[in-house]
Amino acid sequence: MSDGKSTLITGIGELVTNDGAPDDGKPDDGKPGAFAAMNDAALVIAAGQVAWTGPAARAPAADTVVDAAGRAVLPGFADSHAHLVFAGERSEEFVARMAGRPYRAGGIQVTVEATRAASDAALRANLRRLVTEMLRQGTTTFECKSGYGLTVPDEARALKLAAEVTPEVTYLGAHVVPPEFAADPAGYVDLVCGPMLDACAPSARWVDVFCEDGAFGADEAAAILAAGQAAGLAARVHANQLGPGPGIRVAAEAGAASADHCTFLTDDDVDALVSTPVVATLLPGVEFSCRQPFPQARRLLDAGATVALATDCNPGSCFTSSMPFCIALAVREMRMTTQEAVWSATAGGARALRRTDIGHLSPGARADLIMLDAPSHAYLAYRPGVPQIAAVWQAGRLVAGMSPPAAAAAGP
Ligand SMILES: [Zn+2]
Repeated sequence: MSDGKSTLITGIGELVTNDGAPDDGKPDDGKPGAFAAMNDAALVIAAGQVAWTGPAARAPAADTVVDAAGRAVLPGFADSHAHLVFAGERSEEFVARMAGRPYRAGGIQVTVEATRAASDAALRANLRRLVTEMLRQGTTTFECKSGYGLTVPDEARALKLAAEVTPEVTYLGAHVVPPEFAADPAGYVDLVCGPMLDACAPSARWVDVFCEDGAFGADEAAAILAAGQAAGLAARVHANQLGPGPGIRVAAEAGAASADHCTFLTDDDVDALVSTPVVATLLPGVEFSCRQPFPQARRLLDAGATVALATDCNPGSCFTSSMPFCIALAVREMRMTTQEAVWSATAGGARALRRTDIGHLSPGARADLIMLDAPSHAYLAYRPGVPQIAAVWQAGRLVAGMSPPAAAAAGP
């Protein structure tokens, strides 16, 4: 299927294209558009891209034909927030938290110690295991942060490893202040903005900062984002996760692509997200795993903010890589409609990564798509916890699910 030949997927019960007219009134940042879907549809893949979509009855011929047999086809998930380069695990912390102890940002240090001590090979193996896990669950694009090294060589190493598996690489030297700088946090900010940035920028596309009590304050966060931007990186922010704070304002003022978490919102925060192109990325797996109140997705959506859903996959506050699980949480716990949740997990993630080639299935889009073992997108929330990804195509290549003999049918 990657040999330059075309593939027709026909008999699609529901084809989610996300190519509806933009309805958010925001400055046009290109595709994808609003949630849109058609029934009894077909789609042609050629040269790694979507070449045609339309009614199955009018589908053109192609070299290979796949019969979806009434199943749904969606854009692949775009997980715009993940921490995948780490060693060790923290299940005991989760167990303790479920027994009543609240999460504190300091738990990150446990993973920092394990990550610093790990070999490149061990980190790479863990990273690739997670990437495979994500792909099998329909995630065809993902962002990956550093943030568990917190020394110049350890952060640079994490980003080099991340760059092996995704173009969406994020420098998060400003995750927490490591203990060796406990008495000199300003000295750590200088390191993050100076030699560490110099070593990391060549491998990264994004700069991120954990703007929170116990991590980095507004002035520090603004300085870190500005330094990253001066080095050619684009900004994104961990904002308002553990309590009210300046993170969303800092993201808006920096022109960040996304403010992530948004669990605690003031009216000013909502205004900032509505009046700027900053995407509100919600990470409901974190609230599930930390037993916190869920973000107010309805408040954001009803005000007109652009909302993305992502996993925040990390060994501490949320160790899930499953976008379907996040969609189910968004629908059940945050009162998003099934259409909104699927849009936010696909097109929303694309917007949070400022990508126009993914998150939708209009002609010209990258052929990143998933076939569900179900007739509609709603099943992702309707049947929570059930594996329903029948097949995954990435840039037109069948990469997971459906075995080639079942996928292949008669060609010309
Ligand atoms: Zn995070």
